Amino acid sequence: MNLSYYPLDLKLKHTFQIARETRDIQKNVVVLLKDTDGVVGVGEAAPTRFFGEDVESVTRVLDQSIDLLRQANPFHLEDTALLFKNRFPGDAAARAALDIALYDMVGKKLKIPLYQLLGLKQHTAKVTSFTIGIDTLEKMCKKVDEAKDFPILKIKAGFKEDIETLRELRKITKAVFRVDVNTGWSLDEAIKKLDIMEGLGVELVEQPFPVGSIDALRKVRRHAKIPVFVDEDIKDAKDIPAFSGAVDGINIKLMKCGGIREAIRMIHTARAHGLKIMIGCNIESSVSITAAAHLTPLVDYIDLDGHLLIANDPYMGVTVDKGRLTLPAGEGLGVSLRSGENLSSSQEWCRQTVCP
Ligand code: MG
Repeated sequence: MNLSYYPLDLKLKHTFQIARETRDIQKNVVVLLKDTDGVVGVGEAAPTRFFGEDVESVTRVLDQSIDLLRQANPFHLEDTALLFKNRFPGDAAARAALDIALYDMVGKKLKIPLYQLLGLKQHTAKVTSFTIGIDTLEKMCKKVDEAKDFPILKIKAGFKEDIETLRELRKITKAVFRVDVNTGWSLDEAIKKLDIMEGLGVELVEQPFPVGSIDALRKVRRHAKIPVFVDEDIKDAKDIPAFSGAVDGINIKLMKCGGIREAIRMIHTARAHGLKIMIGCNIESSVSITAAAHLTPLVDYIDLDGHLLIANDPYMGVTVDKGRLTLPAGEGLGVSLRSGENLSSSQEWCRQTVCP
């Protein structure tokens, strides 16, 4: 297989702010794998500095992967995932891009969609939340109004006036609220705020505390009626057992865990520990969002809106109507270029329109 890759700068529709950072552009990398029979698999890395990755680290891994992949058999998905995990343990987003591209390629070779390759059937009733980033109250109200078609909103919290903001947002929408604190609270703060949130139609709270605060999670869970999930705390399957009994559920992301194969291992591990499962995302194009969407038959909660937050998604894949996801009909991921060009023309497209 030949590997090529291109930087993809995704422009956010609104400046994206969470408890610990703000950004206008998400710098991702698209990966293309081409086998000797001409079949092309596409993948994407959406690296985050929080987990120690960026475009430079991703491209470094990809450069070192070219020779490893040249003789590889695309059907040896387990061997390849293990090889890359051992070689690049801290580069989950880079590994996810390769893993997604391999699954896309295998699906295309077998002429079946990815969900079918995974032994799943397409569900039609799966609804994603839509994210409302931190902003002034006026702008958050405007974002909620713009998102009025979505029955579930994920409200970013973890700032001083977050409860007052939730109260104001509650006045203008009946949508279900999921609140993502992105590590922004202390234990005392959480106990106080969760009490108030019970009356505000909050379905669950995600990652209230800094990474590693298992004792605080146990305490808050004993006190609060609202289910507590962790996201930043759990990267892959090995991180899950320590949180058994401390939380209600986990948020799985392809970019944290290294791809589809590890995400499935996480799903089974979490189930064995009685945990609920959310599948989430970073700011990503339709390539990797669609890859994650193929796993939705296996999860309880969906937060796959990264491609809806950007203004220049060059790809088409999973579609979202009033929050409801529909997988594309094609083989593999079922992703295509919005321009109508062949997938392997991405490089040309990228050079002309987005990349510096
Ligand atoms: Mg989160």
